[in-house]
Amino acid sequence: MILQFLGANRQVTGSMFLLELDDGFRILVDCGQDLEKNPLPVEDTGSDPFPFAPSEIDLVLLTHAHIDHSGRLPTLYRHGYTGDILSTLPTYYLASLLLADSAQLMRKKAEAQQDRNRKRKQRRLGHGGENEWAEYSSHDVDQSLSRFVTVDFGQAYVARPNLTIIFNPTGHLLGASNIIVEARRSDGSACRIAFSGDVGRYNYPLLNDPVPLPRVDYLVCESTYGGRLHVDKNQPGDILEGIIREVCVEQSGKLLIPSFSVGRTQSLLYVLHRLQLESRLPEIPIYVDSPLAIESTRAYQHLHRFLSTDARAVLARFDDLFSFKQLHLVQSLSESKALSDHYRPCIIISASGMLEGGRIQHHLRHQLQNSKACILFIGFVAEGTFGRRLLDGEPIWQNEGKKIEVRAQIRRTDVFSGHADHNGLVEFVGSQTPETLKTVFLTHGDYPAMLALEETLSEKGYHVEIPYKTQTFTL
Ligand SMILES: [Zn+2]
Repeated sequence: MILQFLGANRQVTGSMFLLELDDGFRILVDCGQDLEKNPLPVEDTGSDPFPFAPSEIDLVLLTHAHIDHSGRLPTLYRHGYTGDILSTLPTYYLASLLLADSAQLMRKKAEAQQDRNRKRKQRRLGHGGENEWAEYSSHDVDQSLSRFVTVDFGQAYVARPNLTIIFNPTGHLLGASNIIVEARRSDGSACRIAFSGDVGRYNYPLLNDPVPLPRVDYLVCESTYGGRLHVDKNQPGDILEGIIREVCVEQSGKLLIPSFSVGRTQSLLYVLHRLQLESRLPEIPIYVDSPLAIESTRAYQHLHRFLSTDARAVLARFDDLFSFKQLHLVQSLSESKALSDHYRPCIIISASGMLEGGRIQHHLRHQLQNSKACILFIGFVAEGTFGRRLLDGEPIWQNEGKKIEVRAQIRRTDVFSGHADHNGLVEFVGSQTPETLKTVFLTHGDYPAMLALEETLSEKGYHVEIPYKTQTFTL
């Protein structure tokens, strides 16, 4: 049996692993977009977008819907894959929203490029003007969505006589799982391989706690927070309440929260709703300014049976998890722009979470130079993005030919991070004993994070590998 590493190697995003069974059956686990090199969807990478022939893949398994795990599934179909994608039901729902949004962004980007080419052609006859294609279209998205097969958590899915697959809840995002592949080798022996997906945290708003991993032979483990501990120890509600009072009440400023529309925004809204129910939320308006976030919020409500016990109790009592008096959903772009024009205290939750595109851009244009405003980051911010530069102290933002001085307060909290920290990852691997676990393969982390996690795990007696991209291992 051969395992090949094809993405998220020594970096965080772009998860992709290829497992080939002894009889030649080929399974692709995750098919994610590399957000670090391409924060926005990329153009077509040519006729060979994968280091394998998509038509020769037999089955795809998807750990969860985040685009760095799912974002290239439509490309796979566009280039010849015709098989199924196995995932949980919430993963299917959320992936359908994220992939449709991704195709739309690509279309806009391709149209803008065509526009530029047309203008260039007018200036310099005979040069430019050729079409640039998006990596995939909404038709490719529809193709991939039509091939999802959903599986319940904990259900043993027998894909073929020598292959059983189980999805286990891992917190992190609604529907997120680690996946256990149990396959028989040609000599009849069994081999169990676990793919961690992204390892979630305990007591995360809206989500059930991760379930410990059963015994496996090999573990492919994420390492995003290797070497780092979450620093915010207070409850999410306490932290949010403190920041809101400081920014919106004491300073009468605007609080801008760049947030991922799927998952993070819903957790944030749920915590705000809980504060409101406890009469702890100051009477200021809260705007969710992202059509994708609004759709995702409806999906979360619809998928309530997968939510945490306390969230289901709130739903049973108040009939709605997310809507409350101060909350306004901003659908249209004109409404969104009107929000930028006033300076009254309010909270604006908008996308993108890393400030690369999205409606948050026009709010930033108005608020970055306002010393009473605060930009609060609540999620992962990749290297190379404007969000990262702002966190690193960038003093000036160059936007649409203008230079904007950064005078707003820039803050972050890790309390909404959906990832386990260093100790959480060590605890996750600790469900296995070094005597029975043959190898832990570290993926989905910066190299220093991987080295830090490798050191702790090695001290505990585990055999650790940090694969490079395309590296193969015989299991
Ligand atoms: Zn994720």
